[in-house]
Amino acid sequence: TATPAKPSLPRVIAVVNQKGGVGKTTTAINLSTALAQEGYKTLLIDVDPQANTTGGLGFGRDDERLSVYDILLGNSTIAETALPSEIENLWLVPGTKNMIGANIELVGAEKREFKLREALEPVRAEYSFILLDCPPALDLLTLNALVSADGLLVPMQAEYFALEGISELVSTLDKVAAAFNPGLGLEGVLLTMFDDRTILSQQVRDNLRGFFGDKLFATTIPRNIRLAEAPSHGKPVSLYDAKSRGAETYRELAIELLKRYGLKPKAATTPPRKR
Ligand code: ADP
Ligand code: MG
Repeated sequence: TATPAKPSLPRVIAVVNQKGGVGKTTTAINLSTALAQEGYKTLLIDVDPQANTTGGLGFGRDDERLSVYDILLGNSTIAETALPSEIENLWLVPGTKNMIGANIELVGAEKREFKLREALEPVRAEYSFILLDCPPALDLLTLNALVSADGLLVPMQAEYFALEGISELVSTLDKVAAAFNPGLGLEGVLLTMFDDRTILSQQVRDNLRGFFGDKLFATTIPRNIRLAEAPSHGKPVSLYDAKSRGAETYRELAIELLKRYGLKPKAATTPPRKR
């Protein structure tokens, strides 16, 4: 049998797509949670000023709390800023609205694309996975995420122009890799809100498979109302409704990702969670 690829942890994964509403935040929250629940210590960083990841994990708005903003401006470290979440093994660096200003405040700063990467350096080794939820723009915040990442995870919906939308992103990946981060690659493309009963969805999936090969995750995330409801309860879907299709499929995604690195899901060997 083939030897599994040597896991090179931590794996820093930026969840990115310049389009809004494609499932980035939903994926960041629920994939991070699933990886944590499989026993892998995970850090989730909310790089989006909309701070939906922060709210979705049950942290209310708090303009005094340290956030990614303070990290980018060099006013705090990740160790000082990361908060334990309700989920064992999952830590959050919150986002805030004032991060919009960071785009401008950093304009003259030296190595402004490297602020997050440099901040991650001292804590990287403490985590198995570090996920970055990006804003729906290719701005300086996203650039900081791309410069920090090993791989880009691109959630997208199965639309007719899906491939065209993604080509801009792939060319951005190439440019960032060439200019700042030669280690950057494509982690994978994830079909979200996917309905495998329509011919169009199947065709789009086949096209993406032809283009991306096994970089297209075999797991697809269906449209599931529980996924949409969970954030308003401040919970990842697996705490809100563990039996839902949303919870099941994000767990499958986590396991698919772990298998790629020859890593084992650990859930079976840890005691069941208390409710
Ligand atoms: P993005 O971060 O890319 O803007 P979100 O993750 O916030 O996208 O998703 C956009 C909206 O769609 C949110 O209201 C979210 O709850 C909902 N949503 C995302 N994924 C699903 C899904 N698989 N099924 C149902 N609703 C979803
Ligand atoms: Mg979002």
